[in-house]
Amino acid sequence: MTFWIRINPQGCVEGSVYASYLDEDSTQGAHAEFVPERPTRLYEAAHGWRHERVDRAEWKRRAEPCLTGDCQHNRAAA
Ligand SMILES: [Zn+2]
Repeated sequence: MTFWIRINPQGCVEGSVYASYLDEDSTQGAHAEFVPERPTRLYEAAHGWRHERVDRAEWKRRAEPCLTGDCQHNRAAA
């Protein structure tokens, strides 16, 4: 099982999608799935937003704490 995760400029994972769900299995394809508007994607790409392809083990380690609100990013912001 492979996922694409969406990472904000603070390094916190804000979303994930199955790689098999995408029309285009690429960084651009993943970004387009989260953000349909191209100008917004260009802005985000220039301002530290990232999209990475991860396997299930890495998803559990990196994405799950963020998506459940139990990560160091959320604690730092609190
Ligand atoms: Zn986080």
